[in-house]
Amino acid sequence: MFEQRYRINISNQVFVFFFFATVAYSLPAGKPQWGFYAHKRINRLAVFTLPPEMLAFYKKHIDYLTENAVNPDKRRYAVVGEAPRHFIDLDAYPDTTKATLPRSWKQATERYGEDTLALHGIVPWHIQLAKFQLTEAFKARDAKRILKISADLGHYIADANVPLHTTRNYNGQMTGQQGIHGFWESRLPELFSTEYDFFTGSATYVPSPQKAAWRAVFDAHAALDTVLRFEKELTGQVGETRKYGFEERNGQTVKVYTDDFSRKYHERLRGQVERQMRASVKMVGDFWYTCWVDAGQPDLDKLARDAATTVDGKEEIEEKKSWWKRLFNVRPEE
Ligand SMILES: [Zn+2]
Repeated sequence: MFEQRYRINISNQVFVFFFFATVAYSLPAGKPQWGFYAHKRINRLAVFTLPPEMLAFYKKHIDYLTENAVNPDKRRYAVVGEAPRHFIDLDAYPDTTKATLPRSWKQATERYGEDTLALHGIVPWHIQLAKFQLTEAFKARDAKRILKISADLGHYIADANVPLHTTRNYNGQMTGQQGIHGFWESRLPELFSTEYDFFTGSATYVPSPQKAAWRAVFDAHAALDTVLRFEKELTGQVGETRKYGFEERNGQTVKVYTDDFSRKYHERLRGQVERQMRASVKMVGDFWYTCWVDAGQPDLDKLARDAATTVDGKEEIEEKKSWWKRLFNVRPEE
C-alpha cells in the first residue's frame, strides 16, 4: 500500500527495511499495522461472502488469509516484477478504449511490450493471471497454494479498487498534495472503517474476470477527481496549519493529518472509502468463488479435514526472510 513505486533507490529500500524492522513488527498486539489495516480487513471479510461448501475451509484459515493479505506489498521491494502488479496509470495512455489499451495481456504486450506495461502498472492483467493460478490450485487440490494465491489475489483486487492506484499522480505529487495516498487508503480506513457497513451479500459467479478487473480500475479511476479536488478545496478552507498535527508513534513524533481535517474530508467524500472497500470485499469473494466453480467445485471440506494439508507457516517465514536478504542485494532500477 505504500506510495513508493516501480523505481526505487537504495535509500528507499533501507528505509523500508527499517520501517518493517522497527515499526511494523514491533507494534503492540491488537493495534492495526499502519497502512496494512484495510488489506487485512478486506481479505477477512471476504471469507464471509462464501457459500457453505467453501466456508469451512476458508474459515479454518481465516487468520492466514488476514495476515498474508499484505505479502505482495512486503515483497515488492525484494522480488523483481512485483511492484507493477499493484497499480495501473490509466492516464499514462492517450486513451483507454479497448483498441488502444487491450484488455488481454497477450494483445497488450504485442502492442506495447512488457517493459512499457510494467512501467505504467499491470494490476488488471495480473488479477486475471492470479485468477487462473487460483483455479489451477483448486483443480490440483493443493491447499497451501489455494491459500497463498487467495491471499495474494485479495490484495491485488483491493489495490485495483483504490483511485490513487490508477494514476501517475499517485501521491498527489503533481498537484502539491503529497501524502494523500496513505491518507486516503490507510488513515481514513483506520479512523472510520469500524463504522462502515460491510454487508455485501453472498459471493456470485463472475462470467468474465477480465471485464470485472477492468471495470474495477475504471470505476476507481472515475472517483479520482473527487479524491484530489475535495482535498485541495478543504485545504484551502482549513489552512495548512490546521491540516497537520503530530502524533507519537512507537516513540517517535510523526506528522499526520489532524483528526478534524480527516473527519471533514471523510464527510465530504460521502462514503467513498466505504464504497470502495465494500466493492473490494465483494469482488474478492466473487473471484475466490468463481475460481472454485471453474475448477469443478472440489470438496473443500475434505481438504479442511485433511491433517496433511495444514498450513504450518514455516514456508512463509522462510520466504519472508529471503525477501529481507534480497533487499540488500537488489540493484536499483534507475
Ligand atoms: Zn499493494
